[in-house]
Amino acid sequence: MILLDNVLFGPAGYPEAAKGKIERVFEILREVGLDALEYAAVHGLRTSVEIAQKIGELADKNGITMSMHAAYYIQLASKSEDIRERSKERLKKALRFAPLMRVKRIVFHPGTHGGMPPDESYTVIRDAIQEVWEEAGPKGEGAVLAPEIAGKIGAFGSADEIIRLCSDLEGVIPTIDWAHLYARSQGRINNRESYSHILEMFENALEELFVDNMHFHVSGIIFTEAGERSHKPLGESWGPDILPLVELVSELGYKPTFISETPNPITGALYAKFLLEELEKTRQ
Ligand SMILES: [Zn+2]
Repeated sequence: MILLDNVLFGPAGYPEAAKGKIERVFEILREVGLDALEYAAVHGLRTSVEIAQKIGELADKNGITMSMHAAYYIQLASKSEDIRERSKERLKKALRFAPLMRVKRIVFHPGTHGGMPPDESYTVIRDAIQEVWEEAGPKGEGAVLAPEIAGKIGAFGSADEIIRLCSDLEGVIPTIDWAHLYARSQGRINNRESYSHILEMFENALEELFVDNMHFHVSGIIFTEAGERSHKPLGESWGPDILPLVELVSELGYKPTFISETPNPITGALYAKFLLEELEKTRQ
């Protein structure tokens, strides 16, 4: 078990069985042996200060490491100035609420390219994140922004774009969504060689910033030519196959947080944890 130390596993969003009861959420995580939770603010962060505080206290009490997934409809490069402003506001609000909820990573999708060539949208998105960070970064008390690899090929968020943001900006770490990479690559990023290539790319470019802050999303996924269509359970007929990824984590001693975005995220997180535990047993 010692080798699992600091590799964390948890669901994206509250477990359904908690029926929205916050105490129950944390009890369930403890009962099943998970240690992370990605709070889902995907339809906007609507919690009150009181509830945010309560979430933070329960996270502390139960030893749960918190992240937050910010709103899906963030569009930092939107054609509409109004939408760009509101998108930045959403990230600033997430940073302000982060300390109350003990959130250390705010995962988000920068959005589409807004009809611009990727190089132009890159500049717009980079400048928007920089503005968010300069204004609200210190209020996050250590929380960082964690832009995610996008599942739709047309969206901003290739591995290269995410790496570039993390290299150019303060307060930004990558979220690698392995299902999204699988969908973007039309199923090619699905084995030891391709996983290891991606990990090397991130590590070579970002060094400790990546290695010390590894944040992974895992799930099965169905994709089309445009990329992601829908998230699915792990370990079934659809890909990606996460076993070679978990093997690399185990062999290289990486300490990522695995957040499961499967339809039942608790089951997905437990499956990933089970794989790592079994691998560690055979290595001892
Ligand atoms: Zn994701």
